[in-house]
Amino acid sequence: FFEAHDVNLHFKSFHALRGISVSFEKSDVLVICGPSGSGKSTFIRAINKLAGPLSSGRFLLEGQDLGSMPRRDLYRRVGMVFQRFNLFQHLTVLDNIALPQRRVLRRSRKDAIERAMGLLKRVGLSDKAARYPAQLSGGQQQRVAICRALAMEPELLLFDEPTSALDPEMVGEVLQVMKDLAAAGMTMVVVTHEMGFAKELATEIAFLDGGQMVEKAPPSAFFSQPRRERTRMFLDQIL
Ligand code: ATP
Ligand code: MG
Repeated sequence: FFEAHDVNLHFKSFHALRGISVSFEKSDVLVICGPSGSGKSTFIRAINKLAGPLSSGRFLLEGQDLGSMPRRDLYRRVGMVFQRFNLFQHLTVLDNIALPQRRVLRRSRKDAIERAMGLLKRVGLSDKAARYPAQLSGGQQQRVAICRALAMEPELLLFDEPTSALDPEMVGEVLQVMKDLAAAGMTMVVVTHEMGFAKELATEIAFLDGGQMVEKAPPSAFFSQPRRERTRMFLDQIL
């Protein structure tokens, strides 16, 4: 369903992604962890062409090269949820979710609003539709950001540390929405240090270090018998 083939990416002379290859199936949840600066955000942003052009290698979605896919198709098929929500501050919650549907998918106003309300209901925010992002808590804003991504009906959803900018008491509500999505069969790549989430939901966990994917294994093996010393040290630090 998704494949990264020997992906390399440079920022000028800095080699940020070093020969990353990974593949997964529909409805899989790939969790990516690793130390700060290891290339997690760069990897996930590179999938959506937000990190500049690859030096070599390619990403395939259902056999189609993402590098040569028109941006409009790419943004529709691959959704992204950022650490800092990135909602449109001057738009209401409802418009944040409805407007992209009208612009990108050319849905009617009525259809877009209906779907937006359906999504808000799904994440428990029906009563916040008329609010502006600044009037919501971080956890609520992140749930709106997830709704906005879901409104495009993406085939793949990317999350870059979706809970790490949140106060601790709001982490659970966002993770719960992500768990519901996984249970509903959404295919996801999630950069996170929430190892409870990873243990429960990841199909596989990948560990990045220095731009390389040094380890990738199902949760049971990843936690109980990490093959690399570097992974072991990292787990010792965060668990
Ligand atoms: P964190 O856990 O802190 O979010 P990360 O694993 O997401 O870290 P990246 O943000 O992917 O790390 O960065 C990987 C490396 O690439 C870092 O050394 C960073 O300084 C560098 N880098 C990232 N973006 C750019 C850029 N636009 N230009 C130059 N260097 C960059
Ligand atoms: Mg990052």
